[in-house]
Amino acid sequence: MTSVLTPVLPKISRVEVLRRQAKNAGLKLLAKSGLASAIGHRFGGNGIILMFHEFVTSPDNLLDQGCRVSDLEAALRNLSQSGWDFVTLGEAIRRISSGNPNRFVVLTYDDGYRSNIELALPVMEKYNAPATIYVPTQMMTRDINAWWLGLRVLARDNDRIEFDPMGLAFECVDLPSKIAALRRMVAWVWEDFRRVEHLARIFEAYKVSVADEVERTVLTEDEMMAADRHPLIEIGAHTTTHRALALLSEADAEEDIDANKRYLESKLDREVPHFAFPYGAPSIAGTREAEICKKLGFETAVTTEPGALFPEHAGYPFLLPRQDAENTVDGQAHITCGVNGVFRALASRLGDPVVRPDGFSE
Ligand SMILES: [Zn+2]
Repeated sequence: MTSVLTPVLPKISRVEVLRRQAKNAGLKLLAKSGLASAIGHRFGGNGIILMFHEFVTSPDNLLDQGCRVSDLEAALRNLSQSGWDFVTLGEAIRRISSGNPNRFVVLTYDDGYRSNIELALPVMEKYNAPATIYVPTQMMTRDINAWWLGLRVLARDNDRIEFDPMGLAFECVDLPSKIAALRRMVAWVWEDFRRVEHLARIFEAYKVSVADEVERTVLTEDEMMAADRHPLIEIGAHTTTHRALALLSEADAEEDIDANKRYLESKLDREVPHFAFPYGAPSIAGTREAEICKKLGFETAVTTEPGALFPEHAGYPFLLPRQDAENTVDGQAHITCGVNGVFRALASRLGDPVVRPDGFSE
């Protein structure tokens, strides 16, 4: 069967370019003017959890994904000089429960990438900053459907992609068009995670090996176990399969989380009290998923809803807000605004500083 695909030369639209430029200029101004820290008095709470995935020396290699390690270093230096404390998740919960006034930052890295150790750990050691790395079981067993890595390889290695589930043929011959094509494909999956099932056939047609990319970029099981023995690293749970939990039945979601917890605990020979929801958006991780985490004995579970931690979160730490800290245009301004709760201030239109998911008692 041949289908007629619409050829597109993917590029970021002019409107989007302008919007991004305005946003980044705004963030830079906020960070530099001191307004970010003024906003922080109300929106910064007691501290904040930051989210990263991969670290890079140049984001071009990852089609503009990841965090420059130089941005991580600058952020930790600035935060340290400004008197912020770097703490573990366990310490963060103790602080919001006890009302310790020192503001803190928690570093978290999702999915178990090797660059967390190779690039970020030396910087963390310099500033004595701990981090939690959330690891899905199938990343370690190498049988995960890491579709986001597959799409990146697809865009990186092909100048033309016949992406028939979208009815499009991407002509992506240079870096900007590859970045744009990748963003469009990823956004298309995020609209409906059931679309993941279309991708295996495309990966096969283009000879994209997700397993090879996982092998190249993700810690091995032995490396993960060694990382957990480092005093600044704690491995956390992130499900067995890294699927969008909202698509699973309650029993399947519980099994997917529980089996990962048990796997990690057997490898690490200790309790694994911290969990991150894959994808983490409110539509994917809600009260049902939070209750499963509570039932399974986790102490915390983090989302990707931006916002700071407040004493209110100590009472129900299973849908904790977390700030995405990756920005390849101006990572430092982005992190300065992030730690001060600026993104929550914007999302709430200067309303309630506290992220209060459903089921969250005030
Ligand atoms: Zn993840």
